[in-house]
Amino acid sequence: MTAHEGLDPAQSGLGDMDIEAFRRHGHAVIDWIADYLGTIDDRPVLSPLAPGEVRDALPATPPVEPEPFRRLMADLDRVILPGITHWNHPSFHAYFAITGAGPGILAETLTAALNVNGMLWRTSPSATELEQVVGDWLRQLLGMAPAWSGLLTEGASTSTLLALAAARERTDLDVRQRGLAGRPDLPPLRVYTSEQAHSSVEKAAIALGLGRDGVRTIAVDDRYRLRPDALAAAIEEDVRFGFRPVAIVATVGTTATTSVDPLQAMADVRDRAVTELGHPIWLHVDGAYGAALAICEEHRWVLDGIERADSLVVNPHKWLFTPIDCSVLLLRDTQALSTAFSLVPDYLATDDGEVTDLMDLTVQLGRRFRALKLWMTLRYFGAEGLRRRLREHVRQAARVAAWVERHPALELVVRPEMSTVVFRLRADDAEVAAAADRAADTAADTAADAAADRAAALAAADERSRRVLRWLDEDGRILLSGTVLDGRHVLRLALGNLRTTDDHLERACAAIDEAVAAVPPR
Ligand SMILES: *Cc1c(COP(=O)(O)O)cnc(C)c1O
Repeated sequence: MTAHEGLDPAQSGLGDMDIEAFRRHGHAVIDWIADYLGTIDDRPVLSPLAPGEVRDALPATPPVEPEPFRRLMADLDRVILPGITHWNHPSFHAYFAITGAGPGILAETLTAALNVNGMLWRTSPSATELEQVVGDWLRQLLGMAPAWSGLLTEGASTSTLLALAAARERTDLDVRQRGLAGRPDLPPLRVYTSEQAHSSVEKAAIALGLGRDGVRTIAVDDRYRLRPDALAAAIEEDVRFGFRPVAIVATVGTTATTSVDPLQAMADVRDRAVTELGHPIWLHVDGAYGAALAICEEHRWVLDGIERADSLVVNPHKWLFTPIDCSVLLLRDTQALSTAFSLVPDYLATDDGEVTDLMDLTVQLGRRFRALKLWMTLRYFGAEGLRRRLREHVRQAARVAAWVERHPALELVVRPEMSTVVFRLRADDAEVAAAADRAADTAADTAADAAADRAAALAAADERSRRVLRWLDEDGRILLSGTVLDGRHVLRLALGNLRTTDDHLERACAAIDEAVAAVPPR
């Protein structure tokens, strides 16, 4: 085939893809997506490729001559797809399971076509106003008061960074103007969050100049919820040593176990500290995954106390079926954000009057038109449709949890309240029990030996747990993820894909069963 065969007329000229060619390729792309989603079930969930394989399959130098669109699509299949881990797969149960659902996929195409940069109101009134409206719809769905308003960002990490920047600005330390470095007048600043909180809190502290030492992690209870008494004690101790508490971050749906921090009790601690210290302490709530559940009346308890918080992040790209990326930051006072970030250079000054220019609320200037996909997703499914789907995922999680409980080699770590099942391999019962018996022995050296035996039995169970994960990765039928909790390796099976059916749950249980049998205790 010669270089020009299959090229569109425009490719040898100066303009964009011509309209008729666009229509033809566009139909082919939509057909490709439909085929992909229609057959996704047959693919291994995790990409089986080794590091470097995708890179090696690609030319090392950029293309010189135009290439036919057909050939690009062929290489999508040949080179790119094998290196895809299929997040839209119904047997993707790792991390938090998500869905980039149909309405959002189509909306993303439209967003690219409109190619809006929503930095100012006038650079597309629809981008700004639709963003405000979908933020407000989400607020209503979550049962929150009208005073709150929303802003879309790329992800929870960015949302939390913005919230903590607002919190820092609310101190009277004038960090916006004078920075943090080289200022002997400043006390060290502190943010408090549980030891189960997401790493994005620490990353925000790194970016904001608070440093990792600026984050004090607070102990959790036996259900992995922040302990308010420990929070109060930490703040009291810090104040005694000259630290300045700036913010408290609660988590609704922690990454490891989906635990829900006690917002009311944390707000009580905050209020008491504010009264004593006489300066504000921001309460931010990280509900990236879990806050979505509050759209269901019977689960609204997960946000009990939210009215006392200052900000909340929820990711529609996590459990509201919107394609990545889409995070909503809701604030009781968006003014706090513009106080932190508004900076208008002459070339962006407008006389549009009483409008919001979204650039004033964030670090970024240019912004994607993210609201369109959230708008289309909310409308396509409707509030009741979304609730039905969340309830289905909660039901699926309960069903898998019941299976885990019946399984002789497995045990639940916590009873799932959301859609993630956290479980682990039992350490060899006989070994652990024997070790415990010996530990009860009064002879000190025997007890020490027994403790060592017990630790060895648990370590063996953990090692086996990791091998079970690797076995499942290679098998490809399902994808789980693991983490470490209380020093033990645990497995997580997350539900959240709209194509996951009870058949997929059976597939998951069968695969785990086989993995456990294939990886015997040592
Ligand atoms: C996923 C998650 C995050 C990070 O979200 P991004 O959108 O990837 O930045 C933060 N916190 C919690 C609790 C999460 O589940």
